[in-house]
Amino acid sequence: MTIKKTALALLSVFTISAGASTALPNHPLPNHPIAGGIISLPIDNEGAVTLNDKPVLTTQIDGQRYAVIGVSLKAEDTLTLKIDGEEQPQLLEDFAYEEQHIEIKNTRKVNPQKNDMDRIGREYNQMTPVYQSFSAELTPDWNQMILPTTGPYSSAFGLKRFFNGQARNPHSGIDIAAPEGKNIIAPAGGTVVLTGDFFFNGQSVFIDHGQGLISMMCHMSRIDVKEGDIVQQGELIGAVGKTGRATGPHLHWTVSLNNARVNPKLLLKADQPK
Ligand SMILES: [Zn+2]
Repeated sequence: MTIKKTALALLSVFTISAGASTALPNHPLPNHPIAGGIISLPIDNEGAVTLNDKPVLTTQIDGQRYAVIGVSLKAEDTLTLKIDGEEQPQLLEDFAYEEQHIEIKNTRKVNPQKNDMDRIGREYNQMTPVYQSFSAELTPDWNQMILPTTGPYSSAFGLKRFFNGQARNPHSGIDIAAPEGKNIIAPAGGTVVLTGDFFFNGQSVFIDHGQGLISMMCHMSRIDVKEGDIVQQGELIGAVGKTGRATGPHLHWTVSLNNARVNPKLLLKADQPK
């Protein structure tokens, strides 16, 4: 992977603190009302909270109930929640993610052939229900996550991506550069809901942390868990590799909340390198 120098220089100064940030008092819930961010909102103890008629994560802290909502990278200026059937628009703040230009030698991974497109479609149909799922039980370490592997951050969340000069979807996770074979662990507890070898993502593991919060680890060289396994935070799930659309070994980690890919750093424990 060749990253143009300008993009690299921008990456080195890119931090999530550059985004809008309004810390809620006395608890660690993230509140970054930007595309790719997370909104935490105090709500009444009773009543249903929905986004696009689907339930969202709710949690109780010190007697106060909160709704915690992922904001899609495609979101524009408003997100409309429904609380007890009543519309509650949430204004989003502007945030411009940087561009990243990548050269991929295997052009088939940039402009897939027709039979590749069939495979990509089938894989999309496997992954989408996982991202849309909502299981009742939320793991207690859901907002105290640990990094699934260690190494320098090599590509930030949200970058507007160009592969061989062609615009593609923004970077929906974070990349950690690490040698092939290095351990990958579960960032938080949950259930392994999908494993596979995907066209773009390579060998991947999906963990359901509960209430619509899903992690995906990809480009793995080895998978050590199977669908249905219950994993604890820190448990070995596989090893770093470069399978799928990757030209060097690294871990790509996506976090999805209510089917919106959000910045995983927003849910990391305070002692984790940001
Ligand atoms: Zn990545």
